[in-house]
Amino acid sequence: MLQVRQLNKHYGNTHAVNDLSFSIKKGEILCLLGSNGAGKTTTLNILLGFIQASSGMAELDGLDMYKQKDLCRKDLMYIPENVHLYPSFTAIENITYLAELSGLTLAPEDIKSSLIRTGITEQHINKKVGGFSKGMRQKVLIAFSLLKHAKLVLMDEPTSGLDPVATNEFIDVINNIKQRGTAVLIVTHDLLCAHELADQIGIMKDGNLTELIDNNNLSLPELTQHYFNQFTA
Ligand code: ATP
Repeated sequence: MLQVRQLNKHYGNTHAVNDLSFSIKKGEILCLLGSNGAGKTTTLNILLGFIQASSGMAELDGLDMYKQKDLCRKDLMYIPENVHLYPSFTAIENITYLAELSGLTLAPEDIKSSLIRTGITEQHINKKVGGFSKGMRQKVLIAFSLLKHAKLVLMDEPTSGLDPVATNEFIDVINNIKQRGTAVLIVTHDLLCAHELADQIGIMKDGNLTELIDNNNLSLPELTQHYFNQFTA
């Protein structure tokens, strides 16, 4: 679903991203780990079409993510670290508005079912989102990604600031969207979350993907060891 090949982004002498290659299939989750300044945000910005790569290619289901960014956006959902919604709208009203911006018309009943599937309770469905926690605001966007049948969900630091219960709920919700065939790329510093969710784990350092590990059959201590090997050499 997502193909990244020999992607580079240079700022003067800084190689923010250096020869990056990976792919994510339908229903697969890749978590990108790395220290500050490793190139994770730059990678996300290229995939979102916000910045142009210096060279290389990124394709979503065969579409160039920079040259055909408007087409890609229909199939893409970006969930930033802090989700901003209209605080005086309910979750249903927020999704209705986001859908209209994307040229979609959604039935309130379908929006409600999607919100409930992502863990927004009946009692919150008609409440203004101004009082929602970070995790609940995330769930609203995840519900929208289900409704727009996003082929790829990109997430930036989704578990930072979530308590352990909210983190567990997040893991359940993401496993749910994975089962529906969505490809998911998560940029995170959270080794535990990456270990719980990922099929593949990439470790970035100084713009390079220094390891791309199959997370199936990898224990958390083994993952932790891989990570620290990169940064404590
Ligand atoms: P963090 O975990 O702190 O968010 P990161 O892995 O997301 O870090 P990036 O923000 O992608 O790292 O930055 C990678 C490198 O590129 C850093 O050295 C950064 O200073 C540099 N960089 C990023 N954006 C620019 C820019 N617009 N101009 C110049 N250098 C930049």
